[in-house]
Amino acid sequence: MSNAQSSAIRSEGRRSKSGSPRQGNTLAYSRTQAPPAAQCVWCEHRFDSADDRLTGRVRCARCGVATTSPWPSDEQLSAAYADWYRPEAGRFSGLGDKVLRRTRSALADRLHPILPPGPVLDVGAGDGTLVEAFARHGREAVGLERHASGPHIRNAEVEEVDGKWSAVIFWHSLEHLRQPARALNHAAALLSPGGTLVVAVPNATSLQARIFGDRWLALDLPRHLVHLSPPALLSKIEALGLRVERVSYLRGGQVVFGWLHGFVGQLPGHPDLYDAIRRSEARQATRSPVLRLYALAAAVVALPFALAATAIEVAVRSGGTIYVEARR
Ligand SMILES: [Zn+2]
Repeated sequence: MSNAQSSAIRSEGRRSKSGSPRQGNTLAYSRTQAPPAAQCVWCEHRFDSADDRLTGRVRCARCGVATTSPWPSDEQLSAAYADWYRPEAGRFSGLGDKVLRRTRSALADRLHPILPPGPVLDVGAGDGTLVEAFARHGREAVGLERHASGPHIRNAEVEEVDGKWSAVIFWHSLEHLRQPARALNHAAALLSPGGTLVVAVPNATSLQARIFGDRWLALDLPRHLVHLSPPALLSKIEALGLRVERVSYLRGGQVVFGWLHGFVGQLPGHPDLYDAIRRSEARQATRSPVLRLYALAAAVVALPFALAATAIEVAVRSGGTIYVEARR
């Protein structure tokens, strides 16, 4: 999980020795040897014959949330987070990484004026861009990130944190946690009075998720362990005693890109747009310049359709991501 990583655009698929395109990866992952998920990662319901077995995940009959299945081992996850996912130089070519940084800064600009005094905790802080953006406002911020360190970044789980915080932010990180519901419980307890929980996650019941199915960009198996719906997320947050103050189906990012990637992936040969826009060292499959050009040209043609689909999806409150602010 991370912040750069948590940003507007997410990866899908796991590292593959054969270098096969990502589109087949939901299916490929579903065939790995790990044991099937035994219970819902969101509500702890023990799976039985009533639950919905999908490719690479099981949808809980009780809460509607899908849990990645098979349930990956630590080794599988380490391989899935290997260097290609977030190389030192950044993941995207051209302006991509700059745009992602700008998005992080905009989040700090929005939140800083509405938060009570006190520090901010960024769970899944990536390279610390959001933490730095809060620092520019003169607000203390601490980021949590696996295998990362820095003056304001700690290699710790949210459950290991104590104290009182003006905000706890899960920007595209909750879906990466092995115990997301427990993490939210703890985060709610960390908030000072008036403190705000901020969550952005893919919307697994969005229009684009339903249309693109197993090829949906934000399925991202096996890194995404939980696949949430807006009602499941909102009812959980309310059950923690927080007041939901804002819900957006656009602010969480990756909505237009989800459509764009999905449309391009429907073409013959299933070109992989997400892979094509990454820097060469961060690419998984699209090594051929011709294939890359094909994907990029297709994206240009598909852009007006992706924008139109986004407008419809957001208007019917079924956008590809859900963003929530909830106050204690
Ligand atoms: Zn459940």
